[in-house]
Amino acid sequence: TGINFDKYDEIPVECTGRDVPKFISSFEEANLYETLASNVKKAGYLKPTPVQKYSLPVILGGRDLMACAQTGSGKTAAFLLPVLTGMTRDGVGGGAFSESGAQEPQALIVTPTRELALQISHEARKFSHSTMIRPVVAYGGTSVQYQLREISRGCNLLVATPGRLMDFIEKAKVGLSKIKYLVLDEADRMLDMGFEPVIRRLVGSPNMPNKGERQTLMFSATFPEEIQRLAGDFLNDYVYLTVGRVGG
Ligand code: ADP
Ligand code: MG
Repeated sequence: TGINFDKYDEIPVECTGRDVPKFISSFEEANLYETLASNVKKAGYLKPTPVQKYSLPVILGGRDLMACAQTGSGKTAAFLLPVLTGMTRDGVGGGAFSESGAQEPQALIVTPTRELALQISHEARKFSHSTMIRPVVAYGGTSVQYQLREISRGCNLLVATPGRLMDFIEKAKVGLSKIKYLVLDEADRMLDMGFEPVIRRLVGSPNMPNKGERQTLMFSATFPEEIQRLAGDFLNDYVYLTVGRVGG
């Protein structure tokens, strides 16, 4: 997957909402947490892609975001870098346990497939290297034992597919009450795969902080009506970002 930066200046960007912060042109301008900034350099990222230029200041400014951009445009770092920076600013503890013994992550990233969950957790490990953040991944179709052991060793950031996540929540292995950052990645694909009821159950869980108390970020390649409805239901005073031509 190569990113063609030459073409980027021609890509139309629409960014709307109340008091939208100015975009950044370089990672330095974003004021990422120091260790993260150096991990970004080590990853070979020289400059932010368009979705990153706009998403970073919006998310770092504490705003909810609905972002639409095509596959391969760099959406993963667009949410991981500001969320990881926010977590270090908030001060991540070690493992936060609830009375039930559940781990209580501060950041939850929900994505439709095992491949995507693995990719995101891999990026999260790379970016959070040498920080106190411990990303853990959970997905279905494989034994729960290893994943549960990893979660129980401490989990501030959980990347998960919807089914396995609900399973762990219902078994009180994962608690939602500490969540400050909720990311729904590939929202359109989650709906295509029939996950809307599970996602609604998750976001409507009694222990999930209300919108306005958590920061919610939705990413999608397309913006059909069902996604617009979800955004209306889950997001608070959000910024709407589209990069390129995005289909309904
Ligand atoms: P999307 O989620 O939008 O499909 P990804 O986040 O998976 O896209 O990014 C696609 C590829 O581009 C990945 O290999 C990623 O490491 C790389 N990438 C992302 N941002 C940058 C950047 N700023 N500079 C160089 N490579 C990048
Ligand atoms: Mg992606």
